[in-house]
Amino acid sequence: MSPATVLQPGATIGILGGGQLGRMLALAAARLGLHCHVYAADADSPAFDVVQKWICAPYDDRERLAAFADAVDLITYEFENVPAETANFLAARRIVLPDPAVLARTQDRLIEKTFIADLAIATAPFAAVGSLSELAAAVDAIGLPAVLKTRRLGYDGKGQAMIAAGGDPLRAWEALGRAPTILEGFVPFEREISVIVARSRDGQLQSFDVAENEHRDHILKVSRVPAAITPDVAAQADDIAARIAKAFGFVGVLAVEMFVVHDGSGTSVLVNEIAPRVHNSGHWTLDGCTVSQFEQHIRAVAGWPLAVPVRWADVEMINLIGDEVNDYARWLGVTGAAVHLYGKSEARPGRKMGHVTRMFHRRR
Ligand code: AMP
Repeated sequence: MSPATVLQPGATIGILGGGQLGRMLALAAARLGLHCHVYAADADSPAFDVVQKWICAPYDDRERLAAFADAVDLITYEFENVPAETANFLAARRIVLPDPAVLARTQDRLIEKTFIADLAIATAPFAAVGSLSELAAAVDAIGLPAVLKTRRLGYDGKGQAMIAAGGDPLRAWEALGRAPTILEGFVPFEREISVIVARSRDGQLQSFDVAENEHRDHILKVSRVPAAITPDVAAQADDIAARIAKAFGFVGVLAVEMFVVHDGSGTSVLVNEIAPRVHNSGHWTLDGCTVSQFEQHIRAVAGWPLAVPVRWADVEMINLIGDEVNDYARWLGVTGAAVHLYGKSEARPGRKMGHVTRMFHRRR
């Protein structure tokens, strides 16, 4: 990428997607003197509130996409399900970072898991299921219990069906509408962790301290930092995320969700999922660290140097999901808590409405 494309303060970054991640990216960019222009399909997009320019249009509206590309210096995205045609259409007009080739590898769980396995990084055993015979073969090879997951468009546990030992695989597949899926062996994990890593245009890497994640109804509820893991496990997790970022030639912030598994032979780390974007388990960095994941992403795509993250304290991030957002006033009074509300109009069940970061034991 030519040095001429390094952004100067005053430049405009286009963000595809208008959710809370886009909103927090735009706020971080503003602090660095950069403008953001948001393109999103949903009229109730929290990111629209914090920028001067936004477009609300479908992702296949070429006229609006072209106008968006013309109005910005560079484009990034805040969700991984950007349609390939949209990304390619924009990439023909403006630099898109991270490279849209990454999207093709992370939108489909089979391609993603195969990519990870090809890097000799451990995952749960998996097999493609697109027919009854493949389903039978996958169950034979992997055994039960197992988790059936749609290859595309699954998130927060949507598009997943658990098959218990002795359960009925066909029923699970039918529950997913017989969509193309992968069967994954059930991992009896000790804990779930994630690494958020940033990679700059010149290949510099900076990762944040490993977060330990607790899910409720398949949705992230709490992230704690530091994770209750040994330095050796933390180093393994860090190394895995760095290898994935390098293999993608990634520019920006990437999250890798992993399982820590304890068995007779020791502790190992398996990759569950890659998110080619800023991630909910990195929200703690807004208040608990000298640089946030959002600023780090903006620095990376802008062609600026990354910051070296220094954590201030032990941190807990609690998601406010659905009507839990109504507790905001109580949280406002809690010592050491920082409240973030996303400005979404409707508190539907399962919807991420805001989060709270709590800081404990200030570091010396
Ligand atoms: P995912 O959508 O793949 O991130 O899965 C959502 C959550 O389901 C994970 O964070 C885990 O808590 C659980 N999960 C997913 N895959 C597995 C697996 N193979 N074994 C055990 N639990 C899983």
